[in-house]
Amino acid sequence: MPASDAPDSTGTLYVIATPIGHLGDLSPRAAELLGRVPVIAAEDTRTSQKLVPSRAIPPHWIALHDHNEARAAERVLDHLRAGDDVALVSDAGTPLVSDPGYRLVDGAHAAGLAVLPVPGPCAAIAALSASGLASDRFAFEGFLPAKAGARRKRLAALAEAPHTLIFYVPARDLVGVLGDLAEAFGAERPGCVARELTKRFEQVRRDGLAALAEWTAADPDRQRGEAVVLVAGAPGTDGATASKVTASALADALAGELPPARAARVIRALTGLPRADAFALVEARRERES
Ligand code: SAM
Repeated sequence: MPASDAPDSTGTLYVIATPIGHLGDLSPRAAELLGRVPVIAAEDTRTSQKLVPSRAIPPHWIALHDHNEARAAERVLDHLRAGDDVALVSDAGTPLVSDPGYRLVDGAHAAGLAVLPVPGPCAAIAALSASGLASDRFAFEGFLPAKAGARRKRLAALAEAPHTLIFYVPARDLVGVLGDLAEAFGAERPGCVARELTKRFEQVRRDGLAALAEWTAADPDRQRGEAVVLVAGAPGTDGATASKVTASALADALAGELPPARAARVIRALTGLPRADAFALVEARRERES
């Protein structure tokens, strides 16, 4: 039992990441846990069985998917309360990342039970790590709405986002989605398609969004399997330049209205510009006037 506030008599819920293609990506710790926990909650029990070594006492399997999560979560919580450790896995990658498990994990916390992650593969993070797009700030946007109107609306709301955006896209939809992205964000906005990661035909392609749409459309094989699409953040004005522009507009507006020291104080308060710089802007404006 790991250190936690949960009572010693209760079990731990292990949220276990599993491979997104290459079975060699199952971590030794994940394999060890799947080889010993008495209960495994899986999105598709048949899919996950191949990850579990043969055991003298097989695990008790609980199917937990989008259509039964509330009921299945209650069964898992009963096992945890009774002292059984439980592994939660999804078909591929990290559970809860565009996959079931949220209600269960939330419910376990609400019940004061221990929840621990067993980190590993996640398509979004794998794609980001190979994309070369800015990774200091990024947002995971998951799947876009399937309907064209709703999708365009969502993209319009994201067009000015300054950070890298990550989308999950079934490869059969890539051409349409990349076309919509090029329209919403601009044909030249840098992007990346990461397809079939860790699998036999994996590809990572960096280009402008319109060029990526053309590249994908040029070969039907590029429209097969699973893909992550990443888009560079909006090319923003850098913060220092923006505040100077605003400060100089304020100086223009205030110079004739307020005494210089007061105008400089207002500019400083609104833009964060150092006092001396704000004062210099006001003085420059007054000199131009005189
Ligand atoms: N929980 C998973 C994870 O941690 O990445 C994601 C599950 S979500 C239902 C499936 C989506 O993830 C796919 O449609 C695709 O966008 C992305 N994906 C999963 N495996 C992938 C792979 N090997 N290569 C590229 N994208 C993948």
